[in-house]
Amino acid sequence: MGMVILDPDWKILSANQRAAEMTGYAVDELEGMSKLSLAGPEQREAMIRDLRKVSENGIPSYRAERRLLRKDLSPVWVRSCVSRLEADGEGHILVLSEDITAEVAAREKLAWQAAHDSLTGLASRGRVEETLQNAILRIDLEGPEVAVFCLDLDGFRLINDTLGNSAADELLQQVAARLRGGLDETDFAGRIGGDKFALIMLEADGTEGPLRRAERLLALFAAPFRVRGSEIAVSASVGISRYPVDGLDADTLLQGAGAAIRDARHAGHNHWSFCTPRLKDDACERLLLANRLRNAVENNEMYVEYQPQYELEGNRLVGFEALCRWRGPMLGEVTPSRFIPAAEESGLIVPIGQMVLREACRRAVTWQTGLVPVRVAVNVSAVQFERADFVESVLATVRDSGLNPRLLELELTESTLVRDRDEGAKKMEELRAFGIRIAIDDFGTGYSSLSYLQNMPVDTLKVDRAFTARLSTSATAVTMVRAIIAMARALGLRIVTEGVETEEQAEILRQLGSDEVQGYLYGYPESAQSAAERVWRELVPAAILTRQGRSLALLVGAVGKQSRESVTGVIMPHSVQ
Ligand code: C2E
Ligand code: CA
Ligand code: CA
Repeated sequence: MGMVILDPDWKILSANQRAAEMTGYAVDELEGMSKLSLAGPEQREAMIRDLRKVSENGIPSYRAERRLLRKDLSPVWVRSCVSRLEADGEGHILVLSEDITAEVAAREKLAWQAAHDSLTGLASRGRVEETLQNAILRIDLEGPEVAVFCLDLDGFRLINDTLGNSAADELLQQVAARLRGGLDETDFAGRIGGDKFALIMLEADGTEGPLRRAERLLALFAAPFRVRGSEIAVSASVGISRYPVDGLDADTLLQGAGAAIRDARHAGHNHWSFCTPRLKDDACERLLLANRLRNAVENNEMYVEYQPQYELEGNRLVGFEALCRWRGPMLGEVTPSRFIPAAEESGLIVPIGQMVLREACRRAVTWQTGLVPVRVAVNVSAVQFERADFVESVLATVRDSGLNPRLLELELTESTLVRDRDEGAKKMEELRAFGIRIAIDDFGTGYSSLSYLQNMPVDTLKVDRAFTARLSTSATAVTMVRAIIAMARALGLRIVTEGVETEEQAEILRQLGSDEVQGYLYGYPESAQSAAERVWRELVPAAILTRQGRSLALLVGAVGKQSRESVTGVIMPHSVQ
């Protein structure tokens, strides 16, 4: 038992040999030292508080477990009994201590083992529950929320079966390491079962934070894992529950998040899902899409399809509209009506739009057979159009591609034009000066009146497919399209009607005098390859046939081993085939 006597200023008056051994100082070194200088820094305040009570007659004695620092700064844990020496009347204090370092170490190891998963070193299920419960206790119902994420590896059983247990364990350790590396300061992560991990996010207000967090969790799986020399691509599914909306206790929340994993799986691998479905509102989705879009552009997940446009009279292919497509490994095929708004909101429409323009021009160059010109139309978002360098960047792209600018048409919506009329008109004039055409897309859906078009430097007007859809059932629709066409004619604009799906619609449009048509009746958006084939199939023979006899034989030789029947076959109107 170590023993020291302190004077009223807590200086060591005397110490025994055992006290010297425990602290690593010689007895005469100890004598004269302040008791406080032995305490570990984190213990000092508590030691002062307790000693003060004893020296100021508050209490006669106390017991404490303290971490002291030895002379060589290594720690030593002691259990001490500190008491005032009543008898001597001088305010001396007696401290009796025993070394409990080994005991504390054993206790800590046990506690660590109970709180941690031995395989990964992450918190154990019990510890996750406890932490979650504590977090809940600290939060008033009105206060910030807590989000709970359950993360489950996709197809882990298969990995286990094919690679064996120990390789699978190694994989789990690597997953844990990535999780640990991806934690925010206030996050808490644990392994709560075989291949199930949990993450507690404190101060998760609303759904945005958790959603971003879920995305970041899934992103941890983007790169493959390397286990025993081979690369394994592993994805995960994440379920999210939130306190208090999804449950008021740790158990319910963990269960809720676990159940949401099933939903996430339903959507395919590498997805997340909220416990409460109502949380998947539009804003959330746009955010999610914007997040994924960022990678999509980098990973070349975007590509372009081409929808043919036909001259109504004579059924002749005149060009294609380039339409952007996105197919990603995580979400599959996402429609433009979903991702374009997200791309506009995040500004990603600028690189996406540039890619579409570059691709479209590059392809359009290959459609030029020297016989019939084939145009390409490219959609332009207001976000792109409003940029100061828009005209310059379009011109540079067209120049690089080698495409004759007269074969390029840019489609702008009415709403783009009304935003800043004068500035917009100026840009359009600049583009037109180079021969690039301007089309007003989705005409009739915006606010502009026809008279508004009068002073706009546009070449083409695209009648929105909403009108087309109603042509055969609504007299008003027919009247409106007739008015639009008459007005456009008067202004010298070319008219393209979109969304033509039936022969009946085509017939009405023929009577109304639409110049060109585009729609499923004539062709779905198709790959660049199919578009090129369409050009060859339809235009080359047609052009040559119209030049008559001599060239036809040449062509049959040149295009391939097509028989005369098939060459004439393909120039039949598409709708009749
Ligand atoms: P949009 O410019 O009006 O393009 C025509 C849309 O109508 C395309 O939808 C096309 O697939 C669809 N469509 C064509 N024929 C028919 C038909 O007969 N019936 C029906 N019901 N639909 C038909 P998509 O490809 O889903 O594109 C939707 C919109 O996304 C486009 O509408 C355009 O506003 C936007 N978009 C597409 N690609 C781009 C792009 O590269 N840049 C920009 N800024 N927007 C794009
Ligand atoms: Ca368009
Ligand atoms: Ca349109």
